[in-house]
Amino acid sequence: MLKAFYHPGFAADIGQHVMPMHKFGMVAEALRAFDWVELVEPAPVTEVDLLRVHVPEYVNAVRTGAPRLLAESQKFPWSPALWPSVLLTGGGCLAAGRDALLTGASAALVSGFHHSHASNGEGFCTFNGLVVAAEAMRVAGEICRVAILDMDLHYGNGTARLAATRPWVTAVSVYGNDYCNNTPFRDVSVKRHVDGENHISFPLPSGCDRADMLRIMEEALPFVLTGGRPDLILYQAGADPFREDPYSPLDLDYEDLKARDRMIFAFARQHSIPIAWVLAGGYTPDTSCVVRVHVNTFMAWHDVFEPE
Ligand SMILES: [Zn+2]
Repeated sequence: MLKAFYHPGFAADIGQHVMPMHKFGMVAEALRAFDWVELVEPAPVTEVDLLRVHVPEYVNAVRTGAPRLLAESQKFPWSPALWPSVLLTGGGCLAAGRDALLTGASAALVSGFHHSHASNGEGFCTFNGLVVAAEAMRVAGEICRVAILDMDLHYGNGTARLAATRPWVTAVSVYGNDYCNNTPFRDVSVKRHVDGENHISFPLPSGCDRADMLRIMEEALPFVLTGGRPDLILYQAGADPFREDPYSPLDLDYEDLKARDRMIFAFARQHSIPIAWVLAGGYTPDTSCVVRVHVNTFMAWHDVFEPE
């Protein structure tokens, strides 16, 4: 049985927005078809959990709405509904991480929020759920090392910056759009960010197909083991590399992204590393396409871990 952490409170009501908040509920609904997935409600993270990663001024701004510029630095309008929702989504990440340590694999129907920084939000990402969860598990003595494997279309700039001051984190980002100062860049032939010893990135060229992607992943995956085998992989399974996504210059369809997920689960299995995944970006106007990519990640897990 695979646990998928979901709470109806994940979706803050922020009105019409490019970020399809309702997709999390749609994925939960679709997963009810699988008798090997159990939906579980997580507890929220605490303010103390957030403060291990984010500065008090920023945490207060998101809680109270003031100063407004900081409270809206992730680029959507602040509302009082935001605070309980971000505590719950962080809780989803943490619950999945903890469950993976016990069972080998787990998922949370949340985004990882990989553009979020210590002192501000960016690119629809309020708090960095991946690093908040990792810090909570490290402080509790549940993990010593963690690897964050980011396969969202966009470069995980926030996670990389937070990793830079945390030698026990390894962040690997395989991306088709670079990301810098709230701006995505389709041209990845020029790197706009600096990699470090424990945060490494691999661009997927424009028009990238399955063979290109799998070849680049072969190159990238060994870096998950940088500094020693991690106790946990947090996998950011973005749906936005999909070829019909308005942001994607890549040529990857449903089956290609499922092959991506299978390769990652096979890697985790081969090295006996627990893995927890989150859903991340996906902006195809027909949300059912985004949902299909996310549901396929569950099927890929099933293919690798529970083949018939
Ligand atoms: Zn993205």
